[in-house]
Amino acid sequence: MSDVQAPRGTFDVLPDDGRARLRLLHLAEETLGRAGYGPVETPVFEATDLFERGVGDTTDVVEKEMFTFDDQGGRSLTLRPEGTAPVCRAYVEHGMHKAPQPVKLWYWGPFFRYEAPQAGRYRQFTQVGLEALGSDDPSLDAESILLLDDLLDGAGARGVRFRVSSLGTAETRRAYSDELREYLRAREDQLSDDVRGRLDRNPLRAFDSDHPGTRAALEGAPQLLDRLAPEDSEHFGEVRRLLDDGGLEYEVDGTLVRGLDYYTRTVFEVESTELGAQSALGGGGRYDGLVELLGGPRTPAVGWAAGVERILLAAAGEAETAAPDVYIVVADGAAAPAAFILARDLRSRGVAADHEQAGRSLKGQLKHADRLGAARVVILGEGIEIKDMGTGEQHAVATLADALAELA
Ligand code: AMP
Repeated sequence: MSDVQAPRGTFDVLPDDGRARLRLLHLAEETLGRAGYGPVETPVFEATDLFERGVGDTTDVVEKEMFTFDDQGGRSLTLRPEGTAPVCRAYVEHGMHKAPQPVKLWYWGPFFRYEAPQAGRYRQFTQVGLEALGSDDPSLDAESILLLDDLLDGAGARGVRFRVSSLGTAETRRAYSDELREYLRAREDQLSDDVRGRLDRNPLRAFDSDHPGTRAALEGAPQLLDRLAPEDSEHFGEVRRLLDDGGLEYEVDGTLVRGLDYYTRTVFEVESTELGAQSALGGGGRYDGLVELLGGPRTPAVGWAAGVERILLAAAGEAETAAPDVYIVVADGAAAPAAFILARDLRSRGVAADHEQAGRSLKGQLKHADRLGAARVVILGEGIEIKDMGTGEQHAVATLADALAELA
């Protein structure tokens, strides 16, 4: 084996997986495009400050997981760990807030987090995501969740389970944070070091912990869902009504706290029971304060991101092979140029065609065609023969033009 290997936590995509990924990409384009979402691409690296401000500097992502480096000009750059802050930056930078609202966008691409690699968790992974900016209409929250369900359904992901909650507005959350901080402080000796260390800055993160003492301390803790202001409760009620009308099965989970700081009102996560420890397929929610935090105008917005590798793991169907319709066997070396041109002519008519390019014997070529799963084989030698690989039937044709007419 070569002593040069892909970095830890990264992976190569080989053709069978590559085909499955492209199929999912096309499905996303269709599913999200039909709902009015347009494709957007942002750079793979951004100013570090964007994520420190946008994601929140008490989050795991910013504190521990970013690939950050200085460029030759001494600017601090970061390989993007998530897509929402970059999309918000682009929304402001390109004056999209002046276009008719909401602006509906979707994206697909590589993201980077320095995490301990394991099955389903990588340091470079791919997310497909969606953002609807410029309206706080609850139908956008519901629409985005239902679109994620449609995408997972179309992809064949198994064991899909949605959990939904509301965090209220930033003010409600602040008041609740204070209340929760007091509650947890009274039980400080039960908490993990990590949760205790973040108690001042971000007590809600305690809900993300699987530390037994912390979990025990949280039993009986006040619930944010019980503290929502009337207009937030109403908003959440409307989102749920629309999800019910849309036929989605989901659980309301008041302990749901997303790992990123910017969420307000609706939050949701979707997981697959088919996956092991890394069961989260995707998540998202409303982030009505983020665009303003990044220097833009006050802009309510909602969105989600889902892991492409995990969706495909949860779907794990048959490997996608790509058998040619026609394989052209060169029985006589002099026919090689004719095989080359026949393959081109077939391809230009939409037929998947391949031909001998590795100097195999006649027998070796037929075996190769069989292994590839070609439906039909053309044998170019002194004459021209067409063989049906399914039935074994073989017949002669007079000219290459006849072969092309029959095969295309
Ligand atoms: P998050 O923004 O952390 O909720 O991420 C959204 C989705 O991206 C998760 O539900 C996962 O499916 C996927 N994801 C996040 N981090 C990783 C990772 N390190 N490796 C693979 N997939 C990931």
